[in-house]
Amino acid sequence: MKSDSTTPGTLWSLHATRQAPGAWARPPRIIVVGAGMAGLVCARLLHDSGCTVTVLEARARLGGRLWTETRLGVPTDLGASWIHGADHNPLSTWCRAIGLPLAFAPTGSRRFYADGAFMRTPALARKTWRGLVAAAAAAGRAQWQARRTAVPASLGSVMEPLIANPRLPPLDRRFLAWITSMSESVEGAPAERIDIAHWYPGEANGVNALPVGGYGRLVADAATGLAVRCETPVRVIRYTRTEVTVETANELFTADAVVVTVPLGILKDDVIRFEPPLPAPKRAAIARLGFGGDAVMNKIVLRFDKQFWPDTNERSIVLPAQPDERGRYTNWINVAQLLKAPVIMGFASGRAAAMLEHSYDDAASVELALANLARLTGTQPPAPTGVIVTRWLSDPWARGAYSYNSVHSSDADRLDYARPVGDRVYFAGEGTQAVDYGTVQAALRSGVDAASAIFRHWAGMEPTLANAPWHEAGSAH
Ligand SMILES: Cc1cc2nc3c(=O)[nH]c(=O)nc-3n(C[C@H](O)[C@H](O)[C@H](O)COP(=O)(O)OP(=O)(O)OC[C@H]3O[C@@H](n4cnc5c(N)ncnc54)[C@H](O)[C@@H]3O)c2cc1C
Repeated sequence: MKSDSTTPGTLWSLHATRQAPGAWARPPRIIVVGAGMAGLVCARLLHDSGCTVTVLEARARLGGRLWTETRLGVPTDLGASWIHGADHNPLSTWCRAIGLPLAFAPTGSRRFYADGAFMRTPALARKTWRGLVAAAAAAGRAQWQARRTAVPASLGSVMEPLIANPRLPPLDRRFLAWITSMSESVEGAPAERIDIAHWYPGEANGVNALPVGGYGRLVADAATGLAVRCETPVRVIRYTRTEVTVETANELFTADAVVVTVPLGILKDDVIRFEPPLPAPKRAAIARLGFGGDAVMNKIVLRFDKQFWPDTNERSIVLPAQPDERGRYTNWINVAQLLKAPVIMGFASGRAAAMLEHSYDDAASVELALANLARLTGTQPPAPTGVIVTRWLSDPWARGAYSYNSVHSSDADRLDYARPVGDRVYFAGEGTQAVDYGTVQAALRSGVDAASAIFRHWAGMEPTLANAPWHEAGSAH
């Protein structure tokens, strides 16, 4: 796949002057493994700076965990939807630069549906104060204990006893179960493996925006001018002090350096063999960091003949009747305003999402989703006219939703994961970032970091990012 719409005005050169190839004594040959956000950004920066870049991608499409699908007649994001922290996110600047409008979601405002009525967050918090006070106290105790003993505590160890505590009012327990499932959703992990120090990251309460038309526009922009070989899974990476050889099913590619941007789950499962093996600290970090396994975050997208749910842009949540039913298509966003079509999107999270992915076919998933929509709207929904159910855990090129800090991992693990091996094998991808891991901006930043490191090494000069479309004067990226 080769896109050729590059124009001089859109050159993403790392050279301050934008004059690309001349500055190199010998521009290096770079192979980038993976055409998600991290890989495309890295490849484009190096390509536009004069390197010879080949991108090898396992799938038939670009974008990886960015996937704007049009099967329902409108562009629907099946991977990332939101730009989190959109008020200070380079992705927002990039969207503005290419004329992609953003739809801002109301901050922290949610409608909770329980027993035929709905309440917004403040009203529900007032009603369930006993549970919230108990949870805050237990979390505080666990965090203090973890700091004192250096033995980490999990979100599950704090919340599960409260969720199961018959002395707490049922509504409080249902709300605590939902709070736990939000963490499981944002982390793509089960509560018992989420470090209490990292639970419920701020992104859920920050300023969030949806790119109108989908993330696919950014993917296409990043891929402009790149030579991408799709349906070309990498099997083996051999590296010496002088070069790198990358092996696929049918071909061998030789280069000066390789940038590995595959999801952490691919590295955990040894889908790519490294010869010689990666250094022990990196392998240990990859093993400790969390990804996929028995939990995930998935979406169900339903299109109907006409809209029968509230026309709000607040998130709608069905508090499950039983706390242990959490994470089963209970969170919904109305995307009808955004897409100008009767479409609604539901979310499954944590262990429940993994169970649904393994045991529920699409028809059973739709039935469960419709039962929850009935509780949300008070009416029996009609049959949908279009359905998409995502299955990121069994996707062979993702193997989960995003990386998380498990109880046994630390930020130092992400540094070990990100560290290049010699000046030959570089690593990028959302999981390599200690800040905002699990997001599109982390993937973007990781691609920038890898391209900058390669540029510094081979061009022998400091890169500039002033030519990148997400650059704002005075910012580092
Ligand atoms: C359901 C879901 C919802 C999300 N929601 C949001 C959100 O709202 N906001 C947000 O900021 N983030 C969200 N994310 C996370 C975000 O999508 C990711 O953090 C980001 O897209 C990761 O980009 P990446 O380049 O690191 O990895 P990827 O996009 O996974 O790219 C890696 C690429 O490597 C390829 N690959 C794998 N193995 C091989 C191989 N052996 N050979 C060659 N190629 C290979 C893959 O096919 C893939 O294209 C969501 C993710 C999911 C799954």
